Amino acid sequence: MPVANDWRMPHAALPTSSRQVLFSAPDTIEHAVSAVDAPGPDEAIVRIALVGICATDLHLLAGHIGDPFPLVPGHEFVGAIAAIGDRASAARGLHVGDHVAVEMLLPCRACARCREGRYNLCDEDDMARGLARGRQYGVNIPRTVSPGLWGGYAEYLFVPAEAITHKLPSTMPWTRAVLAEPLAVASRAVARGRVSPGDTVVVIGPGPVGILTAAAARAAGARKVIMVGTRTSRLALSLSFGADAAVDSRDCDPVVGVRELIGGQLADVVVEVAGVPAAQQQAVSLVRRGGRVVLAGACGAHAVVSFLADEDLLTREIDILPSFLSSGGFEPAIALLERHDFPFEQLVTHSFAFEDVDLAYDLIRSRSDDVLKAVLDPSAERSR
Ligand SMILES: [Zn+2]
Ligand SMILES: [Zn+2]
Repeated sequence: MPVANDWRMPHAALPTSSRQVLFSAPDTIEHAVSAVDAPGPDEAIVRIALVGICATDLHLLAGHIGDPFPLVPGHEFVGAIAAIGDRASAARGLHVGDHVAVEMLLPCRACARCREGRYNLCDEDDMARGLARGRQYGVNIPRTVSPGLWGGYAEYLFVPAEAITHKLPSTMPWTRAVLAEPLAVASRAVARGRVSPGDTVVVIGPGPVGILTAAAARAAGARKVIMVGTRTSRLALSLSFGADAAVDSRDCDPVVGVRELIGGQLADVVVEVAGVPAAQQQAVSLVRRGGRVVLAGACGAHAVVSFLADEDLLTREIDILPSFLSSGGFEPAIALLERHDFPFEQLVTHSFAFEDVDLAYDLIRSRSDDVLKAVLDPSAERSR
């Protein structure tokens, strides 16, 4: 994966246009070019080095998440500052060439939820109210909104004053740095579950976020981490990311498997990342009385999950803790990426050029070639 790690670009070299992958309508991918203007005093332009492909992007393309078209997708991006206004530079402590992660959320920073730090719940980002001020890069800002540089499947990204940036060490490889967003999601889930030293933690769903959740739980001091899922290679890989054991739910009842591994007990904390109702129900059956269940997987707009009100929840006093997106997760995530406890780069299994995004999606949909995290590399050449 040839990704230069040390390029620097003087302000004067900021190009006038940015190639982009565009979802012009449901199930329609096009390639487009947008103009890039010099940023204002409170703004910046980031040159994207890598952007992760997320299951969310495929759902967006299918039209499962609102009507954001035409959309430049991509919310798992990292890159370097290509240009930055004077006030933005002073406020953020960033200069041209600095490596950054930019959070997907563009919260208002003023409402009650933002002020208490839960900016993932920004009152201005309530799609049900048709509002579009608190926004998400690559998810709900159409390209028609000026300056049209709102998604990570692109060479350049616009960073307005309300964006949240995090400086990355310039020595961190992009293939590691690109995991900042999914690891931030994992870190928030672990924080929501109040995972503490000595806890036994079960993670359901060994996808990229699930595997990173195992790592985050281990980093938070979990005594034992058990991964539950169905894909053999992913279960095996989780053992390199802090999981002590894996339970294949096709081979045995996970309740039996987990009890066997922890002396007949159930878990203190269960984090569900699979995003299917059956896994959410399973999560409740895997937690001890008085334990915590974190629901971090999105099940889709019309999914219904059923629990027995008394038997499952009331008489067991289970804390059900939904965890949405990544707020507060980037700081611990970047700190963990800076350590060398886990082989993070192994999660990034495939890299594609923009022109090959359809190949990438075919690979992900067909679950072939042990694809785990695929990324798009703006500097890569098409394969065909
Ligand atoms: Zn994502
Ligand atoms: Zn807000």
